[in-house]
Amino acid sequence: MSLTTQIKEFALDIGYSKVGIIPADSFPEYMADLTKRQEMYSFYIKSPSRPLVAAEPRSLMPTAKSIITTVYDYAQKNFPQELIGKIGRIYQARCYNAPPERINGARPELMKNFLRKMGCQVGEKISLPERLVAAKAGIVTYGRNNFAYAEGMGSFIYLTSFVVDKELEYDKPTVEIGCPEGCSACMKACPTQAIYEPLKLDPRRCIAFNTFMTQERIAGSHIDPEIRTKMGTKVHGCDICQEVCPRNQAKLKANRSDDEFLVKVARDFSLTQMLNPTDEFYSTRIQPLMYNYLREKKYFQRNAAIALGNLGDPANVPDLVIALDDPEELVRSYAAWALGKIGGRGAKQILEEKFKGETSESVKLEIQEALVGMG
Ligand code: SF4
Ligand code: SF4
Repeated sequence: MSLTTQIKEFALDIGYSKVGIIPADSFPEYMADLTKRQEMYSFYIKSPSRPLVAAEPRSLMPTAKSIITTVYDYAQKNFPQELIGKIGRIYQARCYNAPPERINGARPELMKNFLRKMGCQVGEKISLPERLVAAKAGIVTYGRNNFAYAEGMGSFIYLTSFVVDKELEYDKPTVEIGCPEGCSACMKACPTQAIYEPLKLDPRRCIAFNTFMTQERIAGSHIDPEIRTKMGTKVHGCDICQEVCPRNQAKLKANRSDDEFLVKVARDFSLTQMLNPTDEFYSTRIQPLMYNYLREKKYFQRNAAIALGNLGDPANVPDLVIALDDPEELVRSYAAWALGKIGGRGAKQILEEKFKGETSESVKLEIQEALVGMG
C-alpha cells in the first residue's frame, strides 16, 4: 500500500470524513486577495498566525513538499434548541482550536504522530488558508457565503491541514462555487450585510467576528451600537448564513442522536448566568464551548449583556443592575446599554442613580447615551 493510501486511510479511521493532498506550493491568489483587503483584515494580517507568511509554506518549513488536508463533520449529533441562536454550532461541537486533552484536539495529534511514525517531518504552527487548501485538494467547494462545503455534509465542517516533507500522490482541485444558479439567500439573510458580494465578507460587520474578535489586543473591545442591535442573542458565533442555505438543509433536517454533554450544558445555560458567572459556571459551561478566541471573562459578560438588551425582557433588569457594579468597565458599559435598550421607568431611575457614583468616563458616556435613548 502506498504512503498516500496509508495516510488517507488512517485519517478516515480516526474520524475525518474526507482527505485530500496537494503540493506545498505558495498561495499567491490568497496573498493578493488578503493584501487588497488589508484594511478589513489588518487584525488578522498582524496576528501571530502571520497568514501572509504561512501562505508560502516553504518560508516556514523549507523542506515542505505536501499538504494533507482533512474535513471533520462536526454536525454528527443534535444541537440543543436552547443553545441554537446563542452559540455557533462549531463551538458547541467543541472542535474549534480544541486543546489536545479533548477529543477534537487529540485527533490532529494522532494524525501528526502517525505521520511521524511513517517517516514524515510535520510542520508546526503553519496557519494555511484552509478553505483554499481543501478546494485545491478537491474535498470542498465554496459557498457564496464564504464557507467551504463538503459533499453530504454541507458547511458544518472543520478543516485541518498538515504540512509534511514527503512527496505524495496529489488530488484534482475543485476551486469553484458549488451553489445553485441565482441563489443569494445567505447574502439576503445576513442581518448586517457583512457579505457585500459573493465570496467577500467584511469581518468588521460580521456578528461572529464581533462576538469574539472585538478584544482590546485584537480589534478593540468596542462594538458599534448598530451591530449590537443586530446581534440578537448571539454570544459566540453566528450561523444565520449557513442556516438559510439550501446546501445545508438536508444536514439540518437529518435525524441524529443527542449529544449528551450538550444536553447537560443546555439545561444549565442561561444568559443571566453568563452575565454574572460564578467560577463554576465559567469553568464548566463557558470554557468548554467558547474558550477558543475569548479568554477573558469580561468579553463573555459583555456579549451576554448585549443579548439580554436585545431580548428586551424587564425580568432581566435585576441581573443587569448587578452587572452595573462589576469591577470591569466594559461590563458596566454594556450593562448600561442593555438597560437602555430594555427601557422602562425602573431602568431609567437606576441608570440615573448609577451615573452619579460612576467614576469611569467611558461608562458614564454609555449611561448618558442609554438615558438619551430612553427619552
Ligand atoms: S456569520 Fe452572521 S453576520 Fe457573519 S456573514 Fe454570516 S449571517 Fe452575516
Ligand atoms: S445560501 Fe445560496 S448562495 Fe449562499 S452559500 Fe448557500 S447556496 Fe450558496
